[in-house]
Formats: sequence, structure tokens, C-alpha cells
Amino acid sequence: MQELTHWIDGRATAGTSKRFGDIYNPATGEIQARVPLASSAEVDAAIAAAAAAQPAWAATNPQRRARVLMAFVNLLNRDLDKLAEALSREHGKTLPDAKGDIQRGLEVVEFCIGAPHLLKGEFTDSAGPGIDIYSMRQPLGVVAGITPFNFPAMIPMWKFAPALACGNAFVLKPSERDPTVPMMLAELMQEAGLPDGVLQVVNGDKEAVDAILDNPTIQAVGFVGSTPIAEYIYAKGCANGKRVQCFGGAKNHMIVMPDADLDQAADALVGAGYGAAGERCMAISVAVPVGEKTADALIERLIPRIEKLRVGPYTQGDDVDYGPLVTPEAKKRVLELIDSGVKQGAELRVDSRDFSLQGYEQGFFVGPHLFDRVTPDMDIYRQEIFGPVLSTVRAKNYEEAVKLAMDNDYGNGISMFTRDGDAARDFASRINVGMIGINVPIPVPLAYYTFGGWKKSGFGDLNQHGPDAFRFYTRTKTVTARWPSGLKEGGEFHFKQLD
Ligand code: NAD
Repeated sequence: MQELTHWIDGRATAGTSKRFGDIYNPATGEIQARVPLASSAEVDAAIAAAAAAQPAWAATNPQRRARVLMAFVNLLNRDLDKLAEALSREHGKTLPDAKGDIQRGLEVVEFCIGAPHLLKGEFTDSAGPGIDIYSMRQPLGVVAGITPFNFPAMIPMWKFAPALACGNAFVLKPSERDPTVPMMLAELMQEAGLPDGVLQVVNGDKEAVDAILDNPTIQAVGFVGSTPIAEYIYAKGCANGKRVQCFGGAKNHMIVMPDADLDQAADALVGAGYGAAGERCMAISVAVPVGEKTADALIERLIPRIEKLRVGPYTQGDDVDYGPLVTPEAKKRVLELIDSGVKQGAELRVDSRDFSLQGYEQGFFVGPHLFDRVTPDMDIYRQEIFGPVLSTVRAKNYEEAVKLAMDNDYGNGISMFTRDGDAARDFASRINVGMIGINVPIPVPLAYYTFGGWKKSGFGDLNQHGPDAFRFYTRTKTVTARWPSGLKEGGEFHFKQLD
């Protein structure tokens, strides 16, 4: 069986903890590799080596640092197919979706190539007699990223690209479910010219995460994953005096107004609800049609579209709509939640509980499910399902639909489909959610804006990527300098006459 490694000081480094995690091929259900789970001593050693490499990297001028990222972008494009294949093999998502995962990370790297501009400070000339004031943005030192399984290329890049562009060293602890692509990214960064030790990848589980949080050298931690772990990391990291930002789970609603183009809304819901098997933090998991007539017409359009979805392994080509879930535990949890929805009285309008794929019976595939008449007290509404399950909560009117979303614990993304500009403006202005779509189902902001949810979807005060990332990964120093006026007439060649 293939045994993965860590990436320390610019090379693949075998684990020494003797603890391992299984990596599945989710399409076949086979264990295809095992990943070493780092001990705290291994994490501490990786952090110490990063600290040794960081000062020289910080002293490298920002344009040269940006050139490493520029070379990295070229290498990502060169190896796109190889990276996408490795990603799909461990995660299960389709190849086009895997390429999208890489592309959305690459776009953030491109934004970070503008670091020399983004790192410029401010300057006030003559704030007082002979006094100038200026500020500079300096790197924090060694910072860490802890990332989830569902975007194994994009999210590590969202973290390390801005951190490195700012002159920090970075320790990445990727998900132990699909760590191959993060390792490949680190290798490509080295090929792009990044000095050894500046980007370390330690594979591991809670022990590695705790070692990062307890290590005093780590100045900042960026986390993306489920909300309970986000809360834990935020609390512990802050208590240990670190700068922390944590992005958590989601329950994204799509409000469908009576005036919406219902065919367009149904197409959007199917893509946003079932794409990547629902394993996206920006997936739409709750449809909220406004009014009974809208609800009936929407359900009528959704059912045939959902029944037509093609579920299969990424190897079956680009017509596959979505693949398997990531682990057997994920599949079991989703099926249990579906059963709970039925028990708690929701109407299961598309029931694929007996779904099985010939030749892939041991894979972690779950067929698409559609619930109608879901109520807010049901587990399928209260919990993030993270599977191919769309719940419909019928709202009597616009106000009820908005209140439903406002009262939800999560606040990552939300969308509204309508033709009414007035309603859309009101919605965007009032709703307590971080990312809003208007006739756009998955409103992931582009790299030059920032990404972050509200309520239990985000902890900390700065978002990911865009200009916020440059604030998160630097600290500001402000200099007030006074230079008393001196001689400006040149040297004196005669004794000065005393008065
Ligand atoms: P997860 O919380 O299980 O794991 C995320 C990371 O935390 C992994 O690196 C994992 O090793 C580590 N971890 C897991 N258990 C831990 C523990 N007890 N102590 C310390 N560290 C621990 O999340 P996941 O299943 O990998 O990812 C899916 C979740 O991520 C979903 O909830 C999804 O909504 C969320 N997500 C959020 C965003 C966002 O930007 N808001 C983006 C992508 C994914």
C-alpha cells in the first residue's frame, strides 16, 4: 500500500509517529493509501525549521517573492490534469469540478502576485515641523493553516499564497482524508523557487492541530472546516494569544420569489444543491419558495431534473454530474439524516435510498434526494447535511422567507431568485449572511473580493483572500520621524565671528 509522507524543508519526509490514517478511493471503497499522522514533536520540529527559514524569506523583496508565485501559476497550469486526477481519486468529485477547485485557488495566487502593491504602507509628509509619519506592513513570522477535505487544492492556496506573499513562513495541516494534492502543491512551490522550509506540510489529526495551537512560535492560524472544530480552534488559538480566523459550516438557503423564472431557478437549484454531491460549504441545501403556487410549480420542475442526474465515478467522463461522498462515515451520516427527515414528517419527493451503482457497489455513492414540507425544527433543517439532499421549506410570504434565513444559526451564503429589483435590494441590504447571490445560486466572490460567512459560519474579524488576507497575514508598524532642520548652505570655511 502506498504510504504518504510529510513535506518538510523542501522534501518528502516519512512520518515517525507510527500512527496512520486511511485514504479511500471513494468510488470503489478501497483503501488506496495511508497517511502518517504527525506527533506533536514532529509538528514542533517542522515549525522550528520554518522559523529558521522565515527571516531570509521576509528579507527577500516583495517583487521577488511575487515572482515565485508567478512561476507557481505556470506550473499549476502545466500540471492541471495531473493535479485534477489526483484530487478526484481521493475526493471523488468529477474531473471538471476538480479543475474548478484548482482554478479557484489559482485565481487567489494570481491576486497575490500584486503583493508589492498590496503591502505598501501609508505616508504623511510634514505631519508637524520636520515630522513625517509612515506605516509599514510586516509579516507575522510563522503562521499555520488547517484545511478541510472538500476543497483540497483551493483552500490550502487561499491560505498559503497570501501568507507567503507577505513574507511569512507557512505550516499547512491539510485534511487527512485527501492530502495528496496539498503535498503536490508544496512540491510545485519548491519548483517555482520557494526556499526550503518556508512552506511545510504536516499531515495529521487532532494531535497535530493541538500542537500547532500550543506552539508559541505560531503567530496566526487560519482554519476552514466544520463549525464545532472552528469554535474549538478559535477559542484555543485566541486563548494562546494567536491571531485566528475560522470559517465553519453552512446551511445556505435559496429564496424563490413568485415572479422568478422558475425554470432558471430549478436549474440553478439542481446545480447548487447536488454539484460535488452537496459537499460544498456554499451548496444550496434549502429551497424556500414563496407561496404555495410557487412551491408546487418549483417542485414540479425540480423532480424530473433531479431524476435525470448522473451519479458516477470521475473516470466515467465529463457527463457525470457528481461522484461519491468522501468516506463510508460520511455516507452513513447522510443516509441517517435522510431517514430522520422521513421519521420527522418531511415529504421525501425524490427517494434514492436504494441507489446502487453497478460495478461500484462498495463506493460511497448516495443518490439525489428531495424533501418537501420541511420545517425548521427537523434535524434535516437544523444540521448541515453535506450530501446530495435538498430540503424545501415553504414560506407564506417574502417576510417569512427572510426571517427563516435570518433565524438560522449559519450565515455563509444565500441566494434569491426574482425579477423584482426592489425586493432584491431590500434582501441584500437586510439579510444577516456574508455572501449574497441575486439570481446567482452560489455567490462565491472572486479572488479580489473577500470570502467569509457570518454567524456560526465565520469566527474572527477578517475574511479570507482579497485585501483582507493581506491584513490578516501582516501587522502594521507606524513610524513617526522628526528630522531637525540642519545646514543646507554647504560647509563653512571661516571661523565664526562671535557676536
Ligand atoms: P472538519 O472540521 O472535520 O475538518 C477540518 C480540519 O480540522 C481538518 O484538517 C481536520 O483534520 C481538523 N480536525 C478535525 N477534527 C478535529 C478535532 N477534533 N480537533 C482538531 N482538529 C480537527 O471538516 P471537513 O469535514 O474536513 O470539511 C467539511 C466542513 O468544512 C463542512 O462543515 C463545510 O461547510 C466546511 N467548509 C467551510 C468553508 C467556509 O469557507 N466556510 C469552506 C469549505 C468547507
